[in-house]
Amino acid sequence: MSQAVEPSPQCPAQQLMRSGLRKDDPLDQVLLPALRKPVYILLQDHERALRLAQQLEFFGLVVQALPSAAALLASIGEYPPAAIIMDVDFTGRGQGLLLAAKVQQGLAQPVPLLFFSHQETDTPTRLAAVRAGGQDFLTGTLEASSLLEKVELLTNAAPHDPLRVLIIDDSRTQALHTERVLASAGMLTRSLTDPIGTMAELADFQPDLIILDLYMPACTGPELAKVIRHSDRYVSVPIIYLSAEDDLDKQLDAMSEGGDDFLTKPFRSRHLITTVRNRAARARHLKARMVRDSLTGLYNHTHILQLLEDCSFRARREQQPLSFAMLDIDRFKKINDRHGHPMGDRVIKSLALFLKQRLRKSDFIGRYGGEEFAIVMPNTALEAAHKVLDDIRRRFAEILYPAQPQDLQCTFSAGVVQLDDGLDALTMASAADEALYRAKHAGRNCVVRVEP
Ligand code: GH3
Ligand code: MG
Ligand code: MG
Repeated sequence: MSQAVEPSPQCPAQQLMRSGLRKDDPLDQVLLPALRKPVYILLQDHERALRLAQQLEFFGLVVQALPSAAALLASIGEYPPAAIIMDVDFTGRGQGLLLAAKVQQGLAQPVPLLFFSHQETDTPTRLAAVRAGGQDFLTGTLEASSLLEKVELLTNAAPHDPLRVLIIDDSRTQALHTERVLASAGMLTRSLTDPIGTMAELADFQPDLIILDLYMPACTGPELAKVIRHSDRYVSVPIIYLSAEDDLDKQLDAMSEGGDDFLTKPFRSRHLITTVRNRAARARHLKARMVRDSLTGLYNHTHILQLLEDCSFRARREQQPLSFAMLDIDRFKKINDRHGHPMGDRVIKSLALFLKQRLRKSDFIGRYGGEEFAIVMPNTALEAAHKVLDDIRRRFAEILYPAQPQDLQCTFSAGVVQLDDGLDALTMASAADEALYRAKHAGRNCVVRVEP
């Protein structure tokens, strides 16, 4: 998919089939993200555009390097792109800017535009880029992984994940009413009428916020809030009491015992929605900072193990397979030594992005340590997990990072294990680690599975 195509590309569905999707991903599922539309790339140096297109395709994008203005005009009508990457000097000094502006004017909906200039540019050029509808401006050496990051941002490909709210109320009618109001604002809800099931429900649903009734037969709201707060994992989940109690003293007492806010029934829908949305969104934001690694945005060591535990629990209950893998970049120390720490970081980031692109949305990816990664794959048996990882391994090894005196390539090794009776999260992790160790000893750049 990296040869010059004049004037129009293959149909995107065909390109899709070639871009190495997992076989069991239904097409409609994978077609959904905006990124599955083609990205057009037009550079003064067409050879470079072709190489970049090829690199970006390893990350699962559908990319087309176009050689001429005519090719762009022909393609754009037929296959509206997810984004256009345009060299300001494409086909002549400043010509890229003009072409992009012209294309943008002809469209009903503006396309995300990313401008590029090989040289540092002046403010007038940047202004012209902004006026032509450019959302970003890159200079210097274009590199696949940073370009991918920009394109992801521009096309907003990160799927929207609705806020999750758990309602605990012994009155089914009240719970349903609350659910309906929140669902109408796009939130995902679950309700529980028996508070005894709370902890299991929390582990399963992972709500961003809990709405708690004040008086229930089995226990009071504040008692339940204390039980919830006993667990470190739920210390920061906001709890809002919802009750007909209008005695302010009682409300304040309840709040001092593990609650964050108090709403009285009957409530106005807008009031409930606004309160819940603000608190839930902020809590999610804070949690993301607590559970994610700052370099890669992947889950951190502690959290990925926690996820492995949650997923094992669910897999056992639903009698579904679950696989877990550990990855480690090969001879990474050499990369740091030869090319410097920033290059090492770039490789780590690009593997993180690569995994995000290549794995399913339902898989969880963590940065386990420096150049080590861990992956939890729900509903995946050993055979399938091994196949997917091996495919990723092969493709990752093909990526070239621009470096001196010659471009850099690197590989990783992996160990993978499937959940088995009697295995807990920690034993699974150490089994995967042992398999990884064997992969290293077998010469690296391979995936070793732990046979049951
Ligand atoms: P092997 O194939 O056996 O895995 O060899 P290796 O060189 O990859 O393994 P080793 O564990 O000896 O070296 C890992 C190196 O990764 C050591 C450490 O300096 C480096 N490292 C750890 N975290 C980071 C990071 O965040 N950024 C960078 N650039 N380097 C890191
Ligand atoms: Mg290591
Ligand atoms: Mg290593």
